[in-house]
Amino acid sequence: MTTYSGAPRVDPSTGTVVHVVGARQNRPNLPTDVCPFCVGGLEAPEPYSVKWFPNRWPAMPNERCEVVLYSPDHQQTFAGLGVRGAREVLDLWASRTAALGQRDDVEHVLIFENRGRDVGATIDHPHGQIYAFDHVPARTAARVANNWAPQTASALLVAENDGWTTSVPLASAYPVALEIAPQIKVGTLSELDDKQRDACAAALIDALTRMQRLFSPTIPYMLWVNQRPTTNRPEHENAWLNIEIVSPWRANNVLRYIAAAEVSTNEYFNPLIPEELARSLRDVRASQ
Ligand SMILES: [Zn+2]
Repeated sequence: MTTYSGAPRVDPSTGTVVHVVGARQNRPNLPTDVCPFCVGGLEAPEPYSVKWFPNRWPAMPNERCEVVLYSPDHQQTFAGLGVRGAREVLDLWASRTAALGQRDDVEHVLIFENRGRDVGATIDHPHGQIYAFDHVPARTAARVANNWAPQTASALLVAENDGWTTSVPLASAYPVALEIAPQIKVGTLSELDDKQRDACAAALIDALTRMQRLFSPTIPYMLWVNQRPTTNRPEHENAWLNIEIVSPWRANNVLRYIAAAEVSTNEYFNPLIPEELARSLRDVRASQ
């Protein structure tokens, strides 16, 4: 079978961008016996605290896909890293964003994590990924063009932490969704000073801990960082750094599927009321 790894295709009728990545069909679904991310494993022969390396099964050509290891401890979770551990991850995210952003063929750096089998994670070892796009993806561009800024509605507020706000978005496509952002506009992780990075790490741990307390420590989630595109065009001036965390669960161990009515229309039916989710997350004490 021929595989293609050329430029992304665009559906002419909807504008949807599709990366055809036939080669990824050959990647392993699960490691057979040993974890490649544990110290001594295939991707981590030497001891480390946090670490990045090029993805062996990249979704895009030309060194655009990287893996970030959060901890050498296979059983660890992001929430379990604590503020100090999360800060180390954040510093690595910032330095990789800056390094990839300097490339002439990179316009946008996306940092993300898929946690749990329900969202397609194939290895349990705590890790995330980075994609360096040669264009600004449509959703990212739309949020910037519409001047995304942190929620101020108190009914949607979850927590305020040292200059950072965590809230539930007004209209998420996912039943469980959180947004974490600095209260003063900053465009990228690299621009955060030492104190802001600690506060960001604390807000991130707080948000994940609340979500896990309200549902379960095993709740699957997708996390990603929305940063200013690295081309720094005038139209991106208003970009406001924020981190989104969403889960496909609508209740403990109950997956909500995105199905025909939603796929066909790109309109969503959310069974959780955002204001009620915000109240429940507010009431769950993150540091019990
Ligand atoms: Zn491992």
